[in-house]
Amino acid sequence: MEKRKSKLIKVGKVNIGAGNPIVVQGMTKTDTEDVTATVKQIQQLERAGAKMVRVAVPTARAAKAISQIKDKVEVPLIADIHFNYKLALEAIERGIDKVRINPGNISKKEILSIADRAEKEGMPLRVGVNEGSLQKKLDQKIKTQGNNPQIIAKAMVESALETVRLLEENGFLNIIISLKSHDVFASIFSYQLIAKKTIYPLHLGVTAAGPPPQGVVKASIGIGTLLAQGIGDTIRVSLTADPVEEVRIAYEILHCLNLYKETPLLISCPTCGRCKVDMFSIVNDVLLGIEDIKIPLKVAIMGCEVNGPAEAKRADIGVVCGKREAILFKKGKVVRKIKEKEVAKVLLDCIRNY
Ligand code: SF4
Repeated sequence: MEKRKSKLIKVGKVNIGAGNPIVVQGMTKTDTEDVTATVKQIQQLERAGAKMVRVAVPTARAAKAISQIKDKVEVPLIADIHFNYKLALEAIERGIDKVRINPGNISKKEILSIADRAEKEGMPLRVGVNEGSLQKKLDQKIKTQGNNPQIIAKAMVESALETVRLLEENGFLNIIISLKSHDVFASIFSYQLIAKKTIYPLHLGVTAAGPPPQGVVKASIGIGTLLAQGIGDTIRVSLTADPVEEVRIAYEILHCLNLYKETPLLISCPTCGRCKVDMFSIVNDVLLGIEDIKIPLKVAIMGCEVNGPAEAKRADIGVVCGKREAILFKKGKVVRKIKEKEVAKVLLDCIRNY
């Protein structure tokens, strides 16, 4: 898979685009005016692996709170601005690292005021188009041309490119683009379309995806399809759930596409009538045991000799279960037999000592 070429954009200390690893973003769900709660949630997101965190800035008090929040956290912060461009100016004044603007609810003149201030700070803007808040003329276009994913995608791309051109004509080139729809196809089509038309980094996401498991599946299909085609530079998973869960799922998507390799990848069979051990308990114990382990290796746990030996041999560490026992493999070679009740412990010891 060839990765789409994109321009390097810096958000604080984080590099986005130009072949850098895909950056996982988080978003707080606290009231930004509540500095204590917001700092606590940002720190939780940092611990979960978020490299940048977006905060909503709906009021002047929220904008003013940014300087206090910034003092207590490490990750770059992004201000999410809608309707009121003055909040963006205040957020920049308070040390925010990037501003997300929505071309659907901020005028061109106001966008240019924000860009002018951002340019002085060397700060990027995200042109964040959302299907739910498109400009009226584009909403109308969707209605008249037929409300289908292709039409929605074209309208979102038109909205983004119009704003990007406006910024470029005024000398502002420090841009990241996002095009979010709750519809998986509209999201995929819009990013595929814009990927051919610009060199700016793309922030991927499927918006308002809902609670798990639906939201997880929508995000995985939408973001995963695009990443698998080499499109996308930074991602955020949107779930009606704890924001830490969003970051975890984002990493799972990257992990499954081999775009993040710092933790163990588990290969385990679904089990069937041939399985003669309690696989669910074994896998669960191993899963809990590897939660904090940062070693890039493949671990196979297979229920029987049908597919087991091949998978276990190809993995770095593997077990093939039989009747109340299992055979341990390391780097493709049989090591020894182990009893069923020792499987999880032996695997975890092997992983820690790898
Ligand atoms: S590996 Fe064996 S136990 Fe597991 S699903 Fe396949 S046939 Fe069933």
